[in-house]
Amino acid sequence: MPTQPRNTKFIFVTGGVVSSLGKGLAAASLGTLLEKRGHKVILQKFDPYLNVDPGTMSPFQHGEVYVLDDGAETDLDLGHYERFTSGVLSKLNNLTSGQVYENVIAKERKGDYLGKTVQVIPHVTNEIKGRIYEVAKKVDADVIITEIGGTVGDIEGLPFLEALRQFAHEVGPGNALFIHVTLVPYIGAAGELKTKPTQQSIAKLREIGIQPHVVLCRSELPIERDVREKISMFCNVPSEAVIECRDVPHSIYELPLYLQEEKLDDIVCDRLSLPEAEPDLSAWKNFVERVIDPQHETRIGVVGKYIELQDAYKSIYEALTHAGAANDCRVIVERIDAEDVEKGDVEEQLDSVDGLLIPGGFGDRGIEGKVRAAEYARTHGIPYFGICLGMQVATIEFARNVAGLVGANSTEFDQGTAHPVICLLDEQKSVTQKGASMRLGSWVCDLRPGSRSFDLYKSATISERHRHRFEFNSDYRDQLEAAGLVIAGSAPDGTLVEIVELPKHPFYVAAQFHPEFLSKPNTPHPLFTGFVAAALARRLGVQKHAREAAVNS
Ligand code: GLN
Repeated sequence: MPTQPRNTKFIFVTGGVVSSLGKGLAAASLGTLLEKRGHKVILQKFDPYLNVDPGTMSPFQHGEVYVLDDGAETDLDLGHYERFTSGVLSKLNNLTSGQVYENVIAKERKGDYLGKTVQVIPHVTNEIKGRIYEVAKKVDADVIITEIGGTVGDIEGLPFLEALRQFAHEVGPGNALFIHVTLVPYIGAAGELKTKPTQQSIAKLREIGIQPHVVLCRSELPIERDVREKISMFCNVPSEAVIECRDVPHSIYELPLYLQEEKLDDIVCDRLSLPEAEPDLSAWKNFVERVIDPQHETRIGVVGKYIELQDAYKSIYEALTHAGAANDCRVIVERIDAEDVEKGDVEEQLDSVDGLLIPGGFGDRGIEGKVRAAEYARTHGIPYFGICLGMQVATIEFARNVAGLVGANSTEFDQGTAHPVICLLDEQKSVTQKGASMRLGSWVCDLRPGSRSFDLYKSATISERHRHRFEFNSDYRDQLEAAGLVIAGSAPDGTLVEIVELPKHPFYVAAQFHPEFLSKPNTPHPLFTGFVAAALARRLGVQKHAREAAVNS
């Protein structure tokens, strides 16, 4: 048995009955509470699907791909983990069945198993346990919270649950804790909350040999005493460890506060013998108040291709919320389908917004709509924030309509364009493999003194996360600069263009990287904060103008 590092405590969060119960947010919120009690917390996710990582999955399947400093392309729950705690995650913190089997098969091919028959138990389960020990050793945390993707009862989840059962046995009682997040539905015809799905899902866990210590009941109605007692009795969990978890009314950031009221952190700390302490939630509460009841509001149009998907631009929406709170302003996001802008009346669709944001994306669907939106923002003084593809679109639009480069485009959309202002670098041209083949993770960028970005970051050098294949074509740098485009950020050796700006515009900043991955509730990202401030200034200006017009009429 491997020696246990530090006196690390391990919390495993499983889900039952249905998916989409908000396990990730529950795990992240527990992380917040434990961190605010003074513990060093790291969260991680185990995903039982066979993809090696979500990098090659469609946003329709998977929502956003969240990118870490080290370039790992991970599940979007890792975004919640980083936003809800101060832990900086690495590729070790998102394990999939694909990675597990890839490693096991590589070891088998190398002969590491010394001729043994390679089996799910013990080889696959050892690989999974090995990852938890490895993380525990590397991060030196007081508490490691591991969320298991999927729903208990899924065939592909079984090796993970068996591994966790063994792991809990190895580290011994009092060092591992299982939290099961379940659904307690209200059945209108009976006028009752029903506990049977919870009972059955926990029976499934116990069949595997896991007895949860805490049951987190997602429910639309309060869990009254009789329901709590029933779950307690039939699931073998003390009634104080049956925790009610209803939808929080306004914002996901209320969840840690809600769970603290429900005493989740007390139960967890008690069961794991973690020292008594009151979490210091003052800064968090203050942030939540600013999110819920701000003085102002502003309307930001997000022009994208996956606009109908709730999760495709998750980190961007969260970063806008953080920046809104910093500006004492509610950000109302208007989701605008790029294809509608391509075909329809641009003015009609974009007139009501105070700022336009074009997020990242792949493929040419709706691309001309995004170019039109960028043009509209540039020519109408509407604050514009381009992210990744949004920066490439801004460059294309500027090249075509200001620098006079007719037909300028990215070679992603037009291989034969006369002016490939965005193109593949030579090293990307030979890449045929799709997974993990982009410019990924943190890259350092130097900012140009006097630029808006420099002023916002208040720093000459920054580091930001990337996920893209195509780049600003430096052959066009002089021409575009001569036409008025400001290269506000570039790689320290000057080769890669990272930020472009228009200086005479109220706010026109576009970045090749993804700033949304570094924004947190109380440390909003400076570019988002600047953008929302500019949008708010526009809104207040328009309102003032309308008031004056009314007085004068
Ligand atoms: N499709 C573009 C590229 O690969 C932009 C990628 C993105 O926006 N994440 O470079």
